Amino acid sequence: MHHSLEGRRVLVTGGTKGIGYGIAHAFAEQGATVIVTCRSEVDGERAVNELGALGSGDASFAVLDVADPSAIMAVAELADLRLGGLDVLSANAGIYPESDLGEMSLVELDHVLDVNLRGTILIAQACLPALRRSAAGRIIVTSSITGIETGIAGMSHYGASKAGQVGFVRSAALELAPDGITINAVLPGNIRTEGLEALGHDYLAAMEASIPVGRLGTPLDIARAVLFFADEAASFITGQTLIVDGGQVLPESASSMR
Ligand code: NAP
Repeated sequence: MHHSLEGRRVLVTGGTKGIGYGIAHAFAEQGATVIVTCRSEVDGERAVNELGALGSGDASFAVLDVADPSAIMAVAELADLRLGGLDVLSANAGIYPESDLGEMSLVELDHVLDVNLRGTILIAQACLPALRRSAAGRIIVTSSITGIETGIAGMSHYGASKAGQVGFVRSAALELAPDGITINAVLPGNIRTEGLEALGHDYLAAMEASIPVGRLGTPLDIARAVLFFADEAASFITGQTLIVDGGQVLPESASSMR
């Protein structure tokens, strides 16, 4: 139980499915008041019905496409108004479409960077006024092992966006420290979500075989790391990354594993 999270005001982008829903669920269970963002009202209503049955019972949603800067600003203001401030931003929304560099269009490249990297930076920027008013503001970015730790053929734009998030976190940490705001990144390995399942059975099987603990991760595995960074226990930690991957980045080769 993270007692320090009870009553905290939390915004989770991409919080109605996959890892984001796992994060929102875990915060709600701790008694936090959660706003999840999504692009469809149907997803928002479903998620809020489920989250409302937990913890404080106070969950709501806001429609947001993080590729749209003016929508980001509007949602940050709405969250501030609706919750009477903001303590935690979980910048989680992201996409991971495949495209080989030789064939990658400008549209594909821009879309991945706009959602994953620019969207993360802009939502953090838009939430700053509210986070500065918090007694202990927290930003936790869902990055990835892909980019800063590993590479995947067909995902060079994604890897660049995820490594960029970590670069952002490290410099932003220095700017925000005097405001009492910490910013850290969780780096998931392969986590079973709708998005990961869309990459197909062969991808999932290959990834599972390369994870030393012998299973794909769950959204709860990532949520626990996010909760740690949000908790009072992590108040002296900023600008850091935490890999949550079942040991996937460790083996030097497949024969290095038991
Ligand atoms: P997912 O199941 O595909 O869910 C993606 C989430 O991002 C959805 O909630 C979606 O919201 C939201 N999203 C996508 N495009 C958006 C946009 N333009 N504006 C606002 N929201 C948008 O993916 P996931 O696996 O949970 O991934 C979540 C995060 O974890 C991503 O940042 C991803 O890079 C990262 N990650 C995942 C894994 C993994 O193995 N699953 C590994 C490393 C990192 P809608 O409801 O609107 O669709």
